[in-house]
Amino acid sequence: MPPTSSNDDATDRQLRLFVGLVVVVSLCGAGLVVAFTMARPAAPTNFAVVGLIFAAIILASWLRVRFRVQSSQDVTTWVEVPILIGLVLVPGPWVILSTACAVTVLRVARRRPPLKITWQVAKDSLSTSAAAGVLLAFGVMPSTSDPPFAAGAVVAALCAMAVIDQVAFIPIMAISSHSRLRDVATRNLDVKIVGYVVRLVATLVTLALLAYNGDPLLLLLLPLIVACLQLWQSGRVRTREERDSWQRLAEATDALNAVDLTQVLHSAVSRAAVIFSASEAEIDLAVAGTDDRVVIGSAGGIRHDGSPGTAKNKHRGEVTTDLIAHDGTLRVGVLRLRFGGAVKLTEFEQYKLKTFASALCTAIRNASAYAELARISAQNAHDAAHDALTGLANRRQLYDRAARHFSGDSDDGVVALLLIDLNHFKEVNDTLGHAAGDAVLRKVARRLSTAAAPGDLVARLGGDEFAMLLTNLPTPAMAGHRAETVLASLDDAIEVEGMQLSVSAAAGIALAPGSGGVNELMRRADIAMYQAKKAGQQTATYAHASDTADVERLVLGSELQRAIAEREFVVEFQPIVDLGSGEVLWAEALARWQHPEHGFLTPMQFLETVERSGQLPAFADAVLEQALDASNQWREAGFDMPVAVNVSPRSLLDPSFPEMVLSRLGRHKVSAEMLVFELAETLTLTQLEVVRKALNHLSEAGVRLALDDFGTGVSPLSVLSHIPVSQLKIDREFVSTVQTSSEAVAVIRSTVDLARSLHLTVIAEGVESEPQRLSLWELGCVAGQGHLFARSMSADRLLATMQRGTGGRTGALAASLHDGGAVVRMSRRRPGSTGRSSLPHLPA
Ligand code: C2E
Ligand code: CA
Ligand code: CA
Repeated sequence: MPPTSSNDDATDRQLRLFVGLVVVVSLCGAGLVVAFTMARPAAPTNFAVVGLIFAAIILASWLRVRFRVQSSQDVTTWVEVPILIGLVLVPGPWVILSTACAVTVLRVARRRPPLKITWQVAKDSLSTSAAAGVLLAFGVMPSTSDPPFAAGAVVAALCAMAVIDQVAFIPIMAISSHSRLRDVATRNLDVKIVGYVVRLVATLVTLALLAYNGDPLLLLLLPLIVACLQLWQSGRVRTREERDSWQRLAEATDALNAVDLTQVLHSAVSRAAVIFSASEAEIDLAVAGTDDRVVIGSAGGIRHDGSPGTAKNKHRGEVTTDLIAHDGTLRVGVLRLRFGGAVKLTEFEQYKLKTFASALCTAIRNASAYAELARISAQNAHDAAHDALTGLANRRQLYDRAARHFSGDSDDGVVALLLIDLNHFKEVNDTLGHAAGDAVLRKVARRLSTAAAPGDLVARLGGDEFAMLLTNLPTPAMAGHRAETVLASLDDAIEVEGMQLSVSAAAGIALAPGSGGVNELMRRADIAMYQAKKAGQQTATYAHASDTADVERLVLGSELQRAIAEREFVVEFQPIVDLGSGEVLWAEALARWQHPEHGFLTPMQFLETVERSGQLPAFADAVLEQALDASNQWREAGFDMPVAVNVSPRSLLDPSFPEMVLSRLGRHKVSAEMLVFELAETLTLTQLEVVRKALNHLSEAGVRLALDDFGTGVSPLSVLSHIPVSQLKIDREFVSTVQTSSEAVAVIRSTVDLARSLHLTVIAEGVESEPQRLSLWELGCVAGQGHLFARSMSADRLLATMQRGTGGRTGALAASLHDGGAVVRMSRRRPGSTGRSSLPHLPA
């Protein structure tokens, strides 16, 4: 029963000290016995009997009942029987010597380590000395010829041996297995006591036979009796151990029936340590789809639960088993049992371990499956309420939250909905790619979240549309201020892939209506948002008065396909005239929707819907087709003049657009020089490759480009430096105030200067009065369009109007500012280079 090893140096030192102590005490005991024996007269020693005793001790030590405690063995032998009999037959010192020699021979033969041999020899010698001392004290005189029968003395001697044995054994076991002394002392106590009693009976029976000269043959029965008792005892120990461990195994597997994986692992680890009497158990989890996880612990608790690699292991013995299902199909990890020293499991223990491992495997699979289910359902719940890209609430959550307000289930106070739509977002997506678009949306989402007040709900409704449910507003009027703050959070440029993009948005504000619920709130915010866009404002608040028209707009989207198929989109033309002479130079095509129910719709009412839909290419083609038809019609009538067509920035991002245009020109047999594309300067990303390529492609083919609404955009110069423009159209905003605003005058003058130095033509939009015309003319503006000259009209009507002429001049729509033809008609070949002869850089 020696310790087989220890965990660390400190334990080793403790063990050596203790063994040394036992050796010293043992030597003293043997010395005392020798001294007392010498002091008394004695019969001569029968050395044949000493030899027999030596042999009997070897035999008795051989018969062992073992039970493993951690890496140590708790062993009971029959050695007390020959020792006690020997002490009755020959003087104590000889028995001590025999014991020491027998134990040494046996242990050396079993190749035990020296420290263990020393401890065993010292311990057994000491207990023999103690027994000898007791018999001496009882005055028992050993004799071979006339052996005495002193039952009381023998009982006392065996007790002394038992005490010494346990006193030497228990601390060693406790030190090496890190258990408490009490636990070691009480472990299998009843089996031990029964063992001592059995051995005592065997000893007394033998001694009685010897003392009362019984039949020596009976002595031969002794080994048989001993063997039977040995079998009975070890059987008892084994049955008990097995029953206990099955019991523990059953309890453990019951405890594994948990849905929480952590609970399963923790309980498995501590119970495995108990069941297999290991100092530590470890589960190394390898379940597909989860992170590697290692749980280490002992009966006392969990020492490590986390990623592998960080947990230190200083144990010397390890038993490893795969955690596989009964059918061997799935492996979820490894179970390791750690011991202070090398350990070999019995067949029974191996079977038990396999059973435990497969129960654990099932438990881990169940718990993982449950965890996965729980994760999926949590994920589903989250996904159902959140936008995947930005992590904001989604439309559904917004609806639910707003619905709670309307049902009176919340204490949100005054509530308003802010509907936010990014401007020009599709261009970012189309030119920089979806990854960049997504990055912009995520950053916008973060800024909106930061700008939100506690209690507000920020949601992404899809695409570039966001919403914010403002709650607990102190007054309804606060909604507007809050909206401005929120939009201001988007003022700083957003950096994406190294580029600084400026993002702007329009927001519609609606206060929670008294009736109509969520849908009405959404509808109102939507209408307000479109009003903001239409008015070019950042925000607009829903007002009942301006509602009706927009209700129509909302339903139009679904009708676009029919509109294209039924050719409901028609084009009107507004002439652009020479400001000086009043002659028509060319005409701008303006789209209209002849709606079967709503009548004549202007671009303001449908254009955004078209641009947002997939119908933009078909729409653009329809407009171009009608414009080129008109151009042909006018040429045939003798007015060989170009036609200007508005083009959406989004069309330019469509790689097939230039080819579509060129093939239309080819089909209509119209030369490219007769086409002018007007593009709004609000195009924010003109500098980007795709747009530039498309425009260069068209420009190289001969198509002219005009920058529309010039002066209202942000970076005219950067646009001008990137695309091949030949005309600038001054926005109506400046034209309408040319007589009242010095700023407007400054803008027009600098535009004219810029145009002059870049050899561009300047056209004024929205000329409504003669004084305006004159001012523009004086500022150097050569061409203009507006109600003063003509409103937009059908191609036929425009032709008729031109043919009729003004003041007897065909082709003129206004009286000339100067008699005598100071103005020069626009060149037929280059519509972009029309100008006054007085402008030296623009040759006629
Ligand atoms: P725009 O290119 O600036 O067109 C000029 C707008 O000003 C036209 O409005 C025209 O009817 C209006 N207008 C012309 N003269 C006067 C005037 O003296 N006073 C006032 N108050 N207004 C005047 P419209 O037709 O409603 O077009 C609005 C915008 O829609 C256009 O602005 C253009 O950007 C866009 N658009 C029109 N047709 C098309 C098209 O076929 N394709 C694309 N992509 N956009 C188009
Ligand atoms: Ca235009
Ligand atoms: Ca314009």
